[in-house]
Amino acid sequence: MSEINLLESVTAFLRRSHGHYINGVSILGQENETFSVVNPATGETIAMVNQGGENEVNQAMQAASTAFHGVWAETSPMERGNCLNRLADLLLKNSEQLAQLESLCSGKPIQLSRMLDVGASADYLRYFAGWSSKISGETLDVSLPSFKGEKYTAFTRREPIGVVVGIIPWNFSIMIAIWKLGAALTSGCTVVLKPSEYTPLTMLRVAELAKEAGIPDGVINIVNGSGAGVGTHLLTHPLCAKVTFTGSVPTGKLIGKSVMEHGLFRATLELGGKNAAAFLSDMPVEKIVDGVLEAGYMNQGQICAAAERFYIPSVHMDAVLKLLSERLSAMKIGSPLDETTEMGPLANKEHYEKILSLFEKARQEGSEIVYGGHALERKGFFVMPTVIRAKSADDTLMKEETFGPIGTFLSYDDEEELIAMMNATPFGLSASLWTNDLGKAMRMTSRIEAGILWINMHTFLDPAVPFGGVKSSGMGREFGSAFIEHYTELKSVIMRY
Ligand code: NDP
Repeated sequence: MSEINLLESVTAFLRRSHGHYINGVSILGQENETFSVVNPATGETIAMVNQGGENEVNQAMQAASTAFHGVWAETSPMERGNCLNRLADLLLKNSEQLAQLESLCSGKPIQLSRMLDVGASADYLRYFAGWSSKISGETLDVSLPSFKGEKYTAFTRREPIGVVVGIIPWNFSIMIAIWKLGAALTSGCTVVLKPSEYTPLTMLRVAELAKEAGIPDGVINIVNGSGAGVGTHLLTHPLCAKVTFTGSVPTGKLIGKSVMEHGLFRATLELGGKNAAAFLSDMPVEKIVDGVLEAGYMNQGQICAAAERFYIPSVHMDAVLKLLSERLSAMKIGSPLDETTEMGPLANKEHYEKILSLFEKARQEGSEIVYGGHALERKGFFVMPTVIRAKSADDTLMKEETFGPIGTFLSYDDEEELIAMMNATPFGLSASLWTNDLGKAMRMTSRIEAGILWINMHTFLDPAVPFGGVKSSGMGREFGSAFIEHYTELKSVIMRY
């Protein structure tokens, strides 16, 4: 095992005092409280960050509002896109630094941080940049009565919604923030982002790069601190025009309620799920196992769209579980900074403890733990990738999101019964169907309740394809042209002449 050397710029960044980024300046803020950033691979503190409070929220919201009505409103659509493209260039130029910071804070294997948190973030920025000059309204013919020969015309305008508050989870601290930032800025909005307390560092660095990219002061602001403190102040702030949130279902419901209570009404909620992957009987065992590994175990299963419920034809079940266990036992678990690592630690201690308690729950309920089901004997928050054969669809692990490297398996014989089982959940973020019979897949497509359905693949997102959940998995869509509706207001203008 060999770890890459940390860049000097990374160690220097960690040594700095950290707080917030408001109106183009890194500040520590006025609160005396700090919180620690822990490397989940070692359990050691790697940096301290100042808690934000009402003062920092007020400053950030005011800066974002001033920029929204001033400098950003005066920036042409094409130049907004140019700004995002230059930020994409700078992400790539500083790619190794950002990827190392992400891996140190989240435990994500370095290759994944390079590919997704930096590489894909640059792609998302470029995709959104292209939209800046293409957001448009339409002209309409009006049928109002004309008594004295007067005529009418009407048109609609798509106007930026205002200051957008983005609340970000810990699993992709750069990429998910970039989804929100790219959509907001290309539409003409400004942002105040609140990263997760577990991963508060990376966006502070991205904000500095945004300044270097020529994005005017006040357009991007970061306030660090707790959800209950900073998050609540942001959501109830009178200058907040919209919230875009990615995180758990319980927090999403709280935010939805708060949005309604405070008359905000504009919210995009990307929440969790209990996503299903179903393999039809024509799939050979090796292909099923490849699919399960792709769908369930990337980034230690800490991907909202990952599959956690696996439906396998009963004729294949034993062979699939045997081969999957063999493949998982060959998986390289280790330091996120080792380029050959396939699986790192869980992202934080609370999540690690939650996953250990779910192993215990599975045991108590009598589910069969076929592989894994325990922590690793080493420092840090490492657990084994785990395979569970459920007793029935009522097992807790067939119903509750784990957000960890745990696949729970149920066999089936009847495809009608399969669709009913896939849909028997309050969630509906993603699902996948695996078969060579594409006619059958197309017929099943409209019957599966999910915001995104993959056929013969799972987990991969693309900026051109709308993403979001149905049922309790959320509200609204990111990406594609669908984002425009969520970051602009539609104004109608009717003119008599
Ligand atoms: P949480 O819901 O706990 O937190 C997400 C963010 O919300 C954090 O920044 C958190 O702050 C903040 N927050 C918590 N409470 C409040 C509050 N009352 N008001 C405002 N903000 C608040 O999720 P996790 O960070 O634990 O992320 C994991 C979850 O996110 C999983 O359930 C997963 O399914 C979901 N997720 C969904 C995705 C999707 O696109 N649908 C993508 C990625 C993750 P802090 O923690 O600092 O207190």
